[in-house]
Amino acid sequence: AFRAADRLGGIELSEIVRISERAKVLRDQGRDVVALSTGEPDFPTPDFVIEAAHQAALAGETRYTATVGTPALREAIAQEHGRQMAEVIVSTGAKQVLANALMATLNPGDEVILPTPFWTSYADMVVVAGGRPVTVPCPMEAGFKLSPAALEAAITPKTRWLMLNSPSNPSGAIYSAREIAALAEVLERYPQVWVISDEIYAHLSFSPFVSFTAAAPALAPRTLIVSGVSKAWAMTGWRIGWGIGPAPLIKAMVSLQGQSTSGACSVAQAAALAALNGPRDLLRDRCAIFQTRRDKVVAGLNALPGIACPVPDGAFYVFPSCKDALRKGESDGDFCARLLDETDVAVVPGRAFGLSGHFRLSFAYSDDALDAGLARLGDYLNKEA
Ligand code: PLP
Repeated sequence: AFRAADRLGGIELSEIVRISERAKVLRDQGRDVVALSTGEPDFPTPDFVIEAAHQAALAGETRYTATVGTPALREAIAQEHGRQMAEVIVSTGAKQVLANALMATLNPGDEVILPTPFWTSYADMVVVAGGRPVTVPCPMEAGFKLSPAALEAAITPKTRWLMLNSPSNPSGAIYSAREIAALAEVLERYPQVWVISDEIYAHLSFSPFVSFTAAAPALAPRTLIVSGVSKAWAMTGWRIGWGIGPAPLIKAMVSLQGQSTSGACSVAQAAALAALNGPRDLLRDRCAIFQTRRDKVVAGLNALPGIACPVPDGAFYVFPSCKDALRKGESDGDFCARLLDETDVAVVPGRAFGLSGHFRLSFAYSDDALDAGLARLGDYLNKEA
């Protein structure tokens, strides 16, 4: 019989994937499902990016690239972030950057601090890498953000990483320069703790965004910045992300990558280069569209009985509380299952992000889908109340 490795023991199919699959089953039954469950822009990849990929393929960029990434793309990334090329790795999506970093550094029992709510994959990735996720609740009342005191209380001699994500999936919270500096002040006392700062949503900020290393330059020798083209340039399928950090860490990640993918796709790297070198007004335009959708969704949800929706500063998610909409004994998971069954609207329960009593709704969808989703939730919850 088939036997999976022990290291897979702790992880399950992502709840987000499970909900998407359930939504698909309902759709196949002929039901008109409005899925607001996935974090993927509804925009197409810009034409000039696709054109650059086409030209690169015709010009012969169809072979293995350097494992660490093409010099041209790494140079563009280094420039974008004001860093050296030796500090840059290109991987198959931001997700592989994160996986590389954890796999390259964690020994069994090493701890990784996850301010909670966190992006679903973080905890499972830590487990697969042999580490132990240490979740620190950061409730809505605290703006879903980690406080210096809570950080300090979570640190032990076994702590290897703090994983920050700003703007955050699922909460949309952005750490200000002052908040980062306050966390850095704590971290300066614990040199064994390194920082992963996942900034994949940086270009989707509705309030000022500051990179972790810009606000805490003293910690740059132990900080890994993670970013990529997936979200801002609507390039999720091209699978290009990058990490920027101290050269020895990058080197270890490259060694690992050399034994997994041998490096990211050549044509996709050419596409990402074109994206970085291309016009930026497109990013601003799309960000403005997301902000308009955000405002509509926040207002719509706050008009519903039992729902309290804070205003996210970035990314394309809202993470409202549904505590007052739950039936007696009901979990957020039950609530979301009920919404899907009764209204054909798919959203993801907060427990998938480590914080129950909430749900995540993605507004990376068309206005029509958002309007339909809000209307159905409104009809249903108003009847219920
Ligand atoms: N980091 C966060 C916080 C995300 O939400 C996502 C995608 O959902 C990723 C990383 C993964 O990005 P990529 O598609 O480039 O692997």
